[in-house]
Amino acid sequence: MVTLKEALSLDEQQIITLKEDLKKSIEENKQLGAYVEQFTDTEVLSSGSGIPIAIKDNINVKGWELTCGSNILKNYIAPYNATVIENLEKNGLSAFGRANMDEFAMGSSTESSCYGKTLNPVDNTKVPGGSSGGSAAAVAAGLAIAALGTDTGGSIRQPAAYCGCVGMKPTYGRVSRYGIAAYSSSLDQCGPITQNVEDAAILYDIISGYDPKDSTSANVEYTPVAPNLDSSKKLTIAVIDNFIEEASDEIKEAMNKSIKILEDAGHSIVHKRMMDTKNILSSYYIVATAEASANLSRYDGIRYGNRAEATNLKETYLNTKTQGFGEEVQKRIMLGSFVLSSGYYDAYYVKAQKVRHLIKDEFDKIFNDADLILNPVAPTTAPKFGAFASSLEMYLSDIYTISVNLAGLPAISLPVSKDSDGMPIGLQLIANAYDEQTLFDGALSLEQNINYTK
Ligand code: GLN
Repeated sequence: MVTLKEALSLDEQQIITLKEDLKKSIEENKQLGAYVEQFTDTEVLSSGSGIPIAIKDNINVKGWELTCGSNILKNYIAPYNATVIENLEKNGLSAFGRANMDEFAMGSSTESSCYGKTLNPVDNTKVPGGSSGGSAAAVAAGLAIAALGTDTGGSIRQPAAYCGCVGMKPTYGRVSRYGIAAYSSSLDQCGPITQNVEDAAILYDIISGYDPKDSTSANVEYTPVAPNLDSSKKLTIAVIDNFIEEASDEIKEAMNKSIKILEDAGHSIVHKRMMDTKNILSSYYIVATAEASANLSRYDGIRYGNRAEATNLKETYLNTKTQGFGEEVQKRIMLGSFVLSSGYYDAYYVKAQKVRHLIKDEFDKIFNDADLILNPVAPTTAPKFGAFASSLEMYLSDIYTISVNLAGLPAISLPVSKDSDGMPIGLQLIANAYDEQTLFDGALSLEQNINYTK
C-alpha cells in the first residue's frame, strides 16, 4: 500500500486507479468487517476525488449515513460535514468508506457495533481493539492508506497497537470536534491512524487548527509539524515504573528493549511514579459515563434517532432507548445518570473531577523533568474474541490510555515488537499539551531505531 506521503504526489488518474484497487481489496476482505458500508462494483462511498481516507462512523460526512455503530441511528443521514472532513477536502483528500466501531465509541474491542465485529487482520481470532477497530484494521490490512479515528480514552492508540499501525491522539482542543458525534465531550479528540509516524504527522497537520464552530477548540498558534520533523533531537524520556509493573511480561520486555534503543540513540531516561491506576480508572469511568449520559439523552426518538412503537411519550422514550441502544451503552447511561444524581454527585462526580486535577498535576511535575513519557498502550496484546468476561475486565485494559485523555495531552502509539504469537506490541509516547512537535520527533526517532517489520 502506498503511504499517505507517496499518495500526495499521485495525479488524478493514479488516484482513481488506487481507489479502484482499494475497492477490490475491500470486497475481497469483507470478512474482516473493517468497513460498515457494503461495497459493490457499482457503488463506492467516496466524498470527493481526493486521496481516499477511511472515516470512523461517528464523523459526519455530508450525505452519508452516520450510525456510530448503533441501531438507534441506522439510516440517519449526515446533514453537513464535520470540520475534519472539510479540512481533508481542502488538502486534496476525501472521505472513503465508513469504518466500523464500538457502539458510540464505548468499548475496547469493536465487538459492540450493530454491524457485528471487526477481526484483527494479524490473527482473525483476536479483537482489533477499539473503539476505532475498523479504522485500525483497515490500515493494518492494507484496505486504507490512512484513517481517522476518535480517542476518548484510548480508542485510536489501542486499536493501532493491537493491529500494528500508528495511532495519534492530539492535545484536547487541537482538532475540531464540530460534526463528530460526542461520547464524552471533555475527553474526545479526533486523530490519525496511519502506516507510519510521518504519515500521522501529515494527517494531523491537515485536520488540526482552530475552529470557531467548536467552543472547546484551542485558539493557539499552530506551526505544522510534518515539515519540521527532526528525529535527531536528544530528548529526556520518562518511564512510570509503577505502571509498567502491571503489564504482561512480553509488554515489559518490549518496554525494556525500547528504553535501551532510545538510550543508544542518545536520549536520556528518567524514572518516575504516578498515582495508582485504579484511581485513574475510577475517575475516567465516572467522568466519561456522566458526560455520555448527558450527550446520549438526545437520542430519544423525538429529536434524533429511530423511533420505536409506543402509545405515549414515556413509552416512546423507553422503547426507543431499550431497542435502539446495545447493552454496553445502556449500562453506561445508567452509571452516568447515577453518578450525576442528587445525593451522589459530590460523592462520585465531584470526587472524580478532583482526581482528574491530581492526574494533570502529576503529569505537569513529570514534564518539569522530561520532554516525553514512554508507556505501554495496553497491559497485553490483542485478546481473543470474548476474552473479556465482563465490562469491568474490559475497562481494566484501558489503564494506560485514559490518564492521557483526562489530562488532555497528546500521545502517539507505534508498534515496537511482537509477542510470541506474532501479535504486534505497541507502545505510546506522551507529550506535554500542545507539544506535538516533540511528540512526533521522539516517535520518529523510536520508529527509525526500532526496525519494526510487519
Ligand atoms: N475503552 C474506553 C471506553 O470504553 C475508551 C473508548 C474511546 O476512547 N472512545 O470508554
